[in-house]
Amino acid sequence: MIPISTVKLGREAEELVLQVIRSGTLAQGPMVKRLEDEFAALVGAEHAIAVNNGTTSLVASLQALGLEPGDEVITSPFTFVATLNAILEAGATARFADIAADDFCIDPASLDAATSERTRVVMPVHLYGQCADMRAIMPVASRVGAAVVEDAAQAHGATIDGRGAGTFGIGSFSFYATKNLTTGEGGMITTDDSALADRLRVLRNQGMRQRYQYEMAGHNYRMTDLQAALALPQLAEYPSALARRKANAETLNLGLAGIDGLVTPAELPGRSHMWHQYTVLIDDHAPVTRDEFVSTLTERGIGCGVYYPRPVYDYDCYRGHPGVVIEPMPVAESVARRCVSLPVHQHLSDADLDQIVATVRQVMKA
Ligand SMILES: *Cc1c(COP(=O)(O)O)cnc(C)c1O
Repeated sequence: MIPISTVKLGREAEELVLQVIRSGTLAQGPMVKRLEDEFAALVGAEHAIAVNNGTTSLVASLQALGLEPGDEVITSPFTFVATLNAILEAGATARFADIAADDFCIDPASLDAATSERTRVVMPVHLYGQCADMRAIMPVASRVGAAVVEDAAQAHGATIDGRGAGTFGIGSFSFYATKNLTTGEGGMITTDDSALADRLRVLRNQGMRQRYQYEMAGHNYRMTDLQAALALPQLAEYPSALARRKANAETLNLGLAGIDGLVTPAELPGRSHMWHQYTVLIDDHAPVTRDEFVSTLTERGIGCGVYYPRPVYDYDCYRGHPGVVIEPMPVAESVARRCVSLPVHQHLSDADLDQIVATVRQVMKA
């Protein structure tokens, strides 16, 4: 089986974890600080604040903006459920703007149409490792005076026009086990705003600046040093892992070019794609349906995933939810019916890539 994602941590991670165990500082300590500094450098942000998972990083970012009931956050309908859950947890109302079919991210024109005087936050999702069209999204957000929170959970190190994901607004990242960089569970917030960074650090630690000096109603959002230690060697190796992901995506794009009914993904001009996922679309006129494609590939040993099978609001628990505004999202609905992600990670061998291409070609009768 060629898995859709694999975690391989080496000797350096083992040694750093041992160092933490022997130090006696298991909770947040010097390893977390190192990870924050190195991650801020990767993203190109002034500040990075580590938290216990990616969902928390979204929730804390929204909480730090002081949202009130009735305030609206506009996000993508084509995302992991954490994006929506974070908005609801922060007590705001979620509204959606449809995506574009070329980058799978919020379409600036739909965003513009979804704004109103209730819009407080615009929350693009940099899906699959490629930035949303921030060139066009930022002007819409500033026109309505909205803050920007970027769900960059899948886009560590991605850039658009040389500028890093997570530096346009408040950046939110995940280190969940399947992400490009992982601590098992973990998250990170990035910002250039020193006052906001300070607020987030206090919020993360029970609203406490010094012991028993509470400044706000906070929470325990802290990451542990054991987890931070896992990510440090991965950061050092990230450039070579990314080069492999990029090369793998190019190999797949070449091998899968010209198949009738299959659309390959593209790195769009000015954007640097981190290839968290390599996602193709199976058109309605293809010889197999998307679901047949997935089950046949799985039978033949190619791990694949459907991210995501439905728009995020399309579940009973959100349909009647007072905090969720649901409108037709034709592009997201169509893409959710057609998408499937193939393995692209840095641990694939040339033989794996050949097998993926050959199997997809067989299944598509190409
Ligand atoms: C993974 C992910 C999250 C949530 O991160 P966790 O660390 O799993 O809480 C949020 N948004 C998107 C788009 C994600 O892929």
